Amino acid sequence: MKLPVYMDYHATTPVDSRVLETMLPYFTEKFGNPASKNHQFGWIAEEAVERARSIIAKVLGVDSGEIVFTSGATESNNLVIKGLTDSLRSKGNHIISAVTEHKSVIDSCRRLQKYGTDVTFLQVDQYGTIAPEQVRRAITPKTILVTLMAANNEIGTLHNLFDIGSICREHNVLFHTDAAQAIGKVFMDVGSMPVDFLSISGHKIYGPKGIGALFIRNKQPKVRLTPQIDGGGHEKGLRSGTVNVPGAVGLAKALEIAGEEMTNESTRLRAYRDTMWKEFSTQLQDVFLNGHPTNRLPNNLNVSFLNVEDSALMMSLNDIAVSTGSACSTLDPAPSHVLKALNLPPDRIQSAIRFGLGRYSTPEEVEYVIKRVVESVEKLRGRSKFTRKHETINSV
Ligand SMILES: *Cc1c(COP(=O)(O)O)cnc(C)c1O
Repeated sequence: MKLPVYMDYHATTPVDSRVLETMLPYFTEKFGNPASKNHQFGWIAEEAVERARSIIAKVLGVDSGEIVFTSGATESNNLVIKGLTDSLRSKGNHIISAVTEHKSVIDSCRRLQKYGTDVTFLQVDQYGTIAPEQVRRAITPKTILVTLMAANNEIGTLHNLFDIGSICREHNVLFHTDAAQAIGKVFMDVGSMPVDFLSISGHKIYGPKGIGALFIRNKQPKVRLTPQIDGGGHEKGLRSGTVNVPGAVGLAKALEIAGEEMTNESTRLRAYRDTMWKEFSTQLQDVFLNGHPTNRLPNNLNVSFLNVEDSALMMSLNDIAVSTGSACSTLDPAPSHVLKALNLPPDRIQSAIRFGLGRYSTPEEVEYVIKRVVESVEKLRGRSKFTRKHETINSV
């Protein structure tokens, strides 16, 4: 086993070697600009981009004309939220989202708020769940968009996209979901789901960083988004800028692999995750699971180890890469907005650690992490291993 152990797969993932191999020719001999219509270099690049688009569409169960390449889920989220607010100005100016969304959704909404858009941020329950009825109650005649993530990146909680989307349809309100964490991990036949827009990101699914896509459902009457990046009119005018050809090729390959391996991989990672939780909760006292006990991503485990500062625990786990709840984004020292939204006591937020499992996680790593965490928590709590009581505080 190689140290340090990587258990932060929600933050990013390494590029799968199969993905890299597919991408490599598009950096060198097939370097053309897909917008060059006059020669073979351009044609080859364009063909690669369109092939990538149709692979992505096929995996999602949608039409290739419904896929727009972006630089990642952040840009996809910005494009749909800001683009729709502008294009549907005459219809209404109300958006519904939630307090636990990714910053790229929350901050897009906040910026629109500054310019007069009305935004409702729905509250969640102790597990990070939103009841579909909350969405129904929040919809007004001015509502143009509901944007709720498929799976939470910190606590793994899944939203009920089917019921929420159905309510949106009943009320003729468009529905967007940020599926950066969910895609390739939970089954999603996007074509048959009541979802109008869906964001994905390459680097969360063993593809490259700096590439993502937005699914935009083709419907009658057609939904128009105001582009957020103007220029040469690439991507049907929705997203100007030369398409990242190796990125698009890599995203398609990554999604294809994720689709093929999802069933086995989810089962494998869920078993690792459940073992970790079982060991933490039987070997240690005062541990709490954050997020929904069952309706969550298979590879996510978010645990509070009471009476231990997460930063001290992280320091002690210096050969294990995990994230803390007190400062989830390294750029933002404030406690995690997601854990705060669950209404947890401060000591539970301050002692939260997120474990993210992934494609290269092994049983040896899982065993090592369990051992190191248990040792470190006991040491930091100043208790001897031999005096602890065997007691389960909280179990799944
Ligand atoms: C990582 C992530 C994003 C941002 O994706 P980028 O491609 O890095 O811009 C958005 N939403 C969620 C839920 C994420 O996990």
